Amino acid sequence: MQYEHILIRYGELALKKRNRGEFETQLIRNIKKSIKGYPKVQVIRTYGRLYLALNGEPYEQIEQKLKKVFGIHSFSPTRFLHSFELEDIEAAALEVLRDVQPIPRTFKVIVKRPNKQFPHRSQEMNRMLGGHILRNIENLSVDVHEPDVELRVEIRVEGIFVSCRTIPGMGGLPTGSSGKAMLMLSGGIDSPVAGWMTMKRGVRIEGVHFHSYPFTSERAKQKVIDLARILTEYSGGMKLHIVPFTEIQTKIREKCPEHYTITIMRRFMMRITERLAQKHGALAIATGESLGQVASQTMESMRTINDVVNIPVIRPLVAIDKEETIIISRRIETYETSILPFEDCCTVFVPKSPVTKPKPELAEKYERELDIEQLVEDAVNGVESLWIDPSAPEENHEFF
Ligand code: ATP
Ligand code: MG
Repeated sequence: MQYEHILIRYGELALKKRNRGEFETQLIRNIKKSIKGYPKVQVIRTYGRLYLALNGEPYEQIEQKLKKVFGIHSFSPTRFLHSFELEDIEAAALEVLRDVQPIPRTFKVIVKRPNKQFPHRSQEMNRMLGGHILRNIENLSVDVHEPDVELRVEIRVEGIFVSCRTIPGMGGLPTGSSGKAMLMLSGGIDSPVAGWMTMKRGVRIEGVHFHSYPFTSERAKQKVIDLARILTEYSGGMKLHIVPFTEIQTKIREKCPEHYTITIMRRFMMRITERLAQKHGALAIATGESLGQVASQTMESMRTINDVVNIPVIRPLVAIDKEETIIISRRIETYETSILPFEDCCTVFVPKSPVTKPKPELAEKYERELDIEQLVEDAVNGVESLWIDPSAPEENHEFF
């Protein structure tokens, strides 16, 4: 089935009248980025409508790309006819109806006629097309109230659009329309999901990963790069900052009481991430923290860790259950990578009984044994920043 166009709908944006132009521009930019492997496709924006003219590029592959673009509410593959002949419209109507799966039992025709030059009125067209369909497709009847499919025909000056499949999009807001956050990205299940949820609300993400080579392997780092690459399918590309963390972990283990090592380590991660946020123009930090899954995920712990930074910390997973996190993780295709068994820096130094209700005052006291400023600065200076492109097999190494 050869579709010429795709009609794109973007529900939520319409609500934001004031910013609408900006959101549309961002959405178009993101769509273009996601289909840049298909250079013949044109993006057409007319009267609050967004169309892609495929110009011979393969519909099915572009459908897969569009399904991952935030800000698209739904879209429809559409036949575009230059001809205004009735029999061409009838033929196209049968074609698109026969392309619907599962096979519908009831339908309804909706004709719109902005082009008043067209000789038949909308009601008349509804009747004629409906009759033609009933005569040509078996086991299909009309239901004007709750049809299985709606056949939409729009008669415009430039031609006629015929469509009836509607594919749900990802929803959300176009990535890049709500500023930027640093995502603390570990190799686990939670932080990629948290990053995806943050991106869904229009936030651009840069990843920050703490790496403890040689306590953790190169493969553990590669796993995080792979996760970041899956996330770029939704964002069109992202920076990933790899922070050398071995020195800090070693010092903490030498100088601080064992039951506070995890808490203090987390406080260092926060400080460094905040520093990187300032450096790269991000306004918030996003993490995969949640409440109550493990002993370290208590309110007390969250508060003690949060205490060292001043920028907002977004924790989307606090609002959902672990089961839901896993469902999202499978849906966005990070799950299989997340469960690969490579150690992460937090699992290397596991204290026998970590404190479950840490106090900021105690953490501060124990940290006095460390040269915090120097350790943070050295870590920031040693950061290796990569640019991860969804379409390039190798990441680009850049040093900032
Ligand atoms: P995840 O599944 O994301 O690893 P988790 O359930 O293992 O999370 P924690 O180990 O308590 O939970 O980590 C909480 C959050 O801290 C992570 O979701 C992530 O945002 C951040 N974090 C932990 N380890 C690292 C790391 N090595 N690099 C960057 N961020 C990290
Ligand atoms: Mg983890």
